[in-house]
Amino acid sequence: MLQHCALSECTNLNGRGTMKKRLVLIVCALSLLAIGCGPLEDLSLSGANTGNCAKQYSKTEDNICTPCPKSENCYENETILQNFISDVGIPQTYAARLPEISKPLWYLIKEGQDVNTPCYSDGKKSVADSESFFYCPPDSSIYIGEKQLQSFYDRGDNGMTAKLGLKHEWGHHWLSQQLATTTLSAHNYELAADCVMGAIFKEVGYSPENIRYAYDTLMAILTDDPSDIHGNADQRMVSLIAGEKDPTLESCKQIATGEK
Ligand SMILES: [Zn+2]
Repeated sequence: MLQHCALSECTNLNGRGTMKKRLVLIVCALSLLAIGCGPLEDLSLSGANTGNCAKQYSKTEDNICTPCPKSENCYENETILQNFISDVGIPQTYAARLPEISKPLWYLIKEGQDVNTPCYSDGKKSVADSESFFYCPPDSSIYIGEKQLQSFYDRGDNGMTAKLGLKHEWGHHWLSQQLATTTLSAHNYELAADCVMGAIFKEVGYSPENIRYAYDTLMAILTDDPSDIHGNADQRMVSLIAGEKDPTLESCKQIATGEK
């Protein structure tokens, strides 16, 4: 069963609530991939993603859909863009060494802009905006709202929350190319994405101290809501460690299918 927060619920919480509400938003936002996306297409398991960006967006060489070409320096906050590109680049480098993976499309959505997506929430097509943060399997795209990304960086944790979020969504993309995600429980799919995060942190050479910092950051954004499909602290920690120990991601697949 897919369980998820409503898109409108997430939007309402963004940036205007108490710290607790913001924490809820983060987990909520990371869970948006579970919005009832329709049946998966038969996704190609290899080669480059040949998908095109939505109208008015341009695709960079990094497979990022931006509202204007990077060369135009159209972003007001260059730091965010630089961090975003480098965070995206890490898993793609890693991906090159994994079998059967194509790149996701990354949308970086500025304030005031909307992108129609093929995913559904509460029976309606989802529109991604600057407060979005989710993966959409049917078009293999990760929708990152600039405002949401900024709020992650504003947490003052050296961008760790943003790194966790970007890698988590990339984990969903990888898993969606390996498995028929519609057959998975949403809970297992979330834990498996955490597993992929752990593998990436290990793979890109994080020291044990930095991996510990990643764990602590994840623990800090958890809620005590038992209905949260992401799982409780113990479950998420176990998943992260499973990924850290197995960068081939086989154990992450097993978590996704419930075998582990
Ligand atoms: Zn997720």
